[in-house]
Amino acid sequence: MARYTGSVCKLCRRENEKLFLKGERCFSAKCSFEKRAYAPGDHGRSGSGRGGGERVSDYSKQLRAKQKARRKYGVLERQFRRVFGIALKQPGMTGINLLQMLEARLDNVVFRLGFAENRTQARQMVTHGHFKVNGVPHDIPSMIMKPGDTVEIRENSKSKPLFRDLAEVADKRTCPLWLSRDAKAISGKVLRMPERSEIDGNINEQLIVEFYSR
Ligand code: SF4
Repeated sequence: MARYTGSVCKLCRRENEKLFLKGERCFSAKCSFEKRAYAPGDHGRSGSGRGGGERVSDYSKQLRAKQKARRKYGVLERQFRRVFGIALKQPGMTGINLLQMLEARLDNVVFRLGFAENRTQARQMVTHGHFKVNGVPHDIPSMIMKPGDTVEIRENSKSKPLFRDLAEVADKRTCPLWLSRDAKAISGKVLRMPERSEIDGNINEQLIVEFYSR
């Protein structure tokens, strides 16, 4: 399964914003964006590395909005476009449909439930087969969950070092209102789809729709 394997901190610097892709480190003084808040590459310091050297075109704004969302959720272009295609066919506002589907991805749900430090770790936990969805083992992180769907850790994964203290750690993390969580059992349920106000406000879905509508 294809995934981005480069430095994720470079992605924050490229988007000129902390994307919180690493977990604890993002909140510490070790955060690369805190130390070098300019785009990576030879022209990063001048500002042109992120299109800031000259007047920023509409296309550039739309592209950056799309890239930022894609990078936050750790989704490659082909899959992002596929999800956009599904969102377009659904009733309602395409941009919000898109964000709801990204939020409802199995790896993101595992992350939002507090069972992983970041989406990359959540994705890895899922692909390594540590979770069941609706009682059935599931290892596809891009699966879109629906209201009523449940996710729980597999019995034989509980004893693994990665999960030994997870119940305690997860309990200290916030869980959004559209999910319910049993931290002790390392399980959760999708109660409803998230509302726009419960999704990252730094993503401009309208610009993403404009990008794909060119
Ligand atoms: Fe981004 Fe986190 Fe790296 Fe900081 S530590 S640059 S927020 S991924």
